[in-house]
Amino acid sequence: MRKKIVAGNWKMNTTIKEAEVLVKDLTALVDEFDTDVDIIVCPPFTHLDSVARLLAKQYDEKEKIYLGAQNCADHTSGAYTGEVSVNMLKSVNCKYVILGHSERREYYHENSASLYEKIELALNAGIIPIFCVGEKLEERESNRHFEVVAEQIKDVLYRLKGAEMSKIIIAYEPVWAIGTGKTATSEQAEEMHAYIRKVVADKFGDVADIVPILYGGSCKPSNAQEIFSKPNVDGGLIGGASLVAKDFVDIVKSF
Ligand code: PEP
Repeated sequence: MRKKIVAGNWKMNTTIKEAEVLVKDLTALVDEFDTDVDIIVCPPFTHLDSVARLLAKQYDEKEKIYLGAQNCADHTSGAYTGEVSVNMLKSVNCKYVILGHSERREYYHENSASLYEKIELALNAGIIPIFCVGEKLEERESNRHFEVVAEQIKDVLYRLKGAEMSKIIIAYEPVWAIGTGKTATSEQAEEMHAYIRKVVADKFGDVADIVPILYGGSCKPSNAQEIFSKPNVDGGLIGGASLVAKDFVDIVKSF
């Protein structure tokens, strides 16, 4: 049985005050129901400690919302101005880190070599990577989407050991669907998720059955249920809609 996961990527949005309001609204809504979905919020680095404290105050025994970061450094410590290490993330109770988001690949030139380093560092620190893959519009239009996504997986995840792979979460995020309002159809999502699982199985065998694969790209309350109903879709990585507490919680409830 694979985990169901809904993770919110807040990107470069909110001030600390706004983040605190958002977390309070979220916890209030989440506390109204029981769920077997792992709920994760990924605020900007500057907000992690405040959000961690609010969550710890709310959930002193059983955590209902977990903390994630949007990136980490590909080195452990030292002269890397502006970077944030996995140990720093761990010190603020981060359990997850998004790695290889298309915005980071495109605007900050993240490549497979550094993503592999980041994944190794995160795993060694006990932080679970949410590894993003996905094709651009022109790649889908030229029917290269499977090839592109397989390459992204092989270049990074094929270098892991089976035990490491069993801890990874994959997020399929077609670049043409991120922040555009255009969502992949549930059939397109399922087709790619099944393919991703096969690519993982080709190298790691049965481990592929336990790897959660999340869909990301303009997922919202109105389309989440349809997308999450597919057998290989184990949840969502949510951008815009994660900034509105009710929308995010409605997506969680879509399972
Ligand atoms: C994302 O950036 O991970 C994302 C899925 O964004 P949005 O939901 O806004 O398309």
